[in-house]
Amino acid sequence: MLNYFDLSNCRLCPRDCGVNRLAGERGYCGEGAVIRASRAALMYYEEPCISGFCGSGAVFFCGCSLGCLFCQNYAISSRNKKEEPSFSSQSIEKGPVRMELTPEKLADVFLSLQEQKAANINLVTASHFLPLLIPSLESARRNGLVIPVVYNTSSYERPEALRRLEGLVDIYIPDLKFCDPALSAAYAGAPDYFERAAAAIREMVRQQPSPLFSDGSHTLDAEDDSDDPMMLRGVIIRHMVMPGHTEDSRKILRYLYEEYGDSVFLSIMNQYTPMPQVLDSPVGLRHPLLKRTVTEKEYDEVIDFAISLGITNGFIQEGGTVSRSFIPAFDGTGL
Ligand code: SF4
Repeated sequence: MLNYFDLSNCRLCPRDCGVNRLAGERGYCGEGAVIRASRAALMYYEEPCISGFCGSGAVFFCGCSLGCLFCQNYAISSRNKKEEPSFSSQSIEKGPVRMELTPEKLADVFLSLQEQKAANINLVTASHFLPLLIPSLESARRNGLVIPVVYNTSSYERPEALRRLEGLVDIYIPDLKFCDPALSAAYAGAPDYFERAAAAIREMVRQQPSPLFSDGSHTLDAEDDSDDPMMLRGVIIRHMVMPGHTEDSRKILRYLYEEYGDSVFLSIMNQYTPMPQVLDSPVGLRHPLLKRTVTEKEYDEVIDFAISLGITNGFIQEGGTVSRSFIPAFDGTGL
């Protein structure tokens, strides 16, 4: 049986690169055999039950196995960056900082975020580091980490690998980005995205089948978001509406509601922001829709569809969320 955690023949994710990361080779995610991250700090603009008043303790990892053309974290997620320097000390240069971290150091980072009163530890795009991340989480737990661990992912993952997170992750926040294989092929080079992501999300829901909030309830009061309890366990599936692709959004929402009903929360996002790698490059010429934001009409259409399906466990975004100012500084803060 294949060992999905063997970095000398990396098949950790559906890209199936087969590279020897231990010998310095890099595959699609662009990362080797050492954890690299760019920021660990409190973040306030996640869903209210994740950020709360204190902020979510977000750790932004470098690299990504999906690699969407429009990624908002492109500065640190873009692949094949082996020519760029990484940093093993607190040196900071212009541009994104990529800090190398041992599993022990990463465990200390988690504990430091807890000391800063973070509501949770929020692992942002860590899947390609799973074999190194798991010892970090285990060590942090042994040394006093008690706040929930949130696993924030593109969902382009193998269920077999995710199984190793059972008992270590309290809240999963997977994306379900695309349904149409042509769309996921065009925007992320992954025609199999939907089937892979759907299988990964199924595993996450198996591990956390029912939401639990800090007031002991299993749901949120839809009328009152001023004093939301915090999520302690569960799954929040995010879908960001893409400009010009509301039909794909409808298919995704229908699938999720038919599959999971109210056992998961859905977060329907309108924050798509055209980034420089789209605006200032041939990508924008090939995919002109990526150069604009989602219109109010498009977003309203998707929300109306969600309501018509009967979705009640959901989060929507208010106007004004489209802004690059939501993208944090990848400057090595907290590492
Ligand atoms: S984790 Fe990275 S190297 Fe390994 S299979 Fe996925 S993309 Fe390839």
